[in-house]
Amino acid sequence: MRFRRAKSEPKIAWWKKILLVVLLLALPLLAASPRHMTARMVADSENGTKVMILNYHKIDDMNISLSVPPEDFDKQMKYLYDHGYHTISPDDLYNSLEGNAELPENPVLITFDDGYRDNYENAYPILQKYGFKGTIFVITSFLGVYPNYITWGMAREMDANGISIESHTVDHKSMTDLTDEQLRSELVDSKRKAEEELGHEVDYMAYPTGTYNLHIAQLVKEAGYKAAFTIKYGNVDKASNIYALERVPIFQTEQTNKDFVERIRYIPLFERFGWVKS
Ligand SMILES: [Zn+2]
Repeated sequence: MRFRRAKSEPKIAWWKKILLVVLLLALPLLAASPRHMTARMVADSENGTKVMILNYHKIDDMNISLSVPPEDFDKQMKYLYDHGYHTISPDDLYNSLEGNAELPENPVLITFDDGYRDNYENAYPILQKYGFKGTIFVITSFLGVYPNYITWGMAREMDANGISIESHTVDHKSMTDLTDEQLRSELVDSKRKAEEELGHEVDYMAYPTGTYNLHIAQLVKEAGYKAAFTIKYGNVDKASNIYALERVPIFQTEQTNKDFVERIRYIPLFERFGWVKS
């Protein structure tokens, strides 16, 4: 047969033996290197610090995926606290992306969409317990109207105590279904209403249901917002589109807290292998 071995096996050259020994000794180092490389790549990224933006909705005991039970939310905040994360505001994020300010180590922006009353009753005391900042994107026409949502009084109280109140449009319509005129009024009127109620500028918004396109993003910019948040999965850095910032949605699952830790720990790997950003 053509592929038969030679009759006599040649002796393994001495240098090959040495190479084998060196390789065996180096194996533990090789196995450990991907983790080290990832950490270094994240820290040295030419696009600056990676910022994790968590996205919650309800913090209560309802058995739906949008509801994270208060007990679990507390554990998640404790995890962040114990692992040296530092909460930041949308302004902190914006200023760092613009190159005008440095972020603390392990920065995290904790956001809530819609403005549910449980954010005030359940999430706010837990955030305060850890000295954490938060951000709530409110549907401006719902506040003070529907009992399930915070009031402007609650919004003002939280706004004065480390919780940024931002826009989630006037009435939460899917923006890709609206005319330009409707889009402008959703963006401009919600901004104006929140500014009147809070007594200061409101510079950030989150797209209802996360749906947006580049045309809508342009209208967001024209309405005077500095940045906008999507539900595109990933971390934010200087390569991100400031009007389409990535977030990490946190849901209730069969194993909420285990999933939470996996979600936040594996983002750098997801990004590195191109599984998130195209
Ligand atoms: Zn929403």
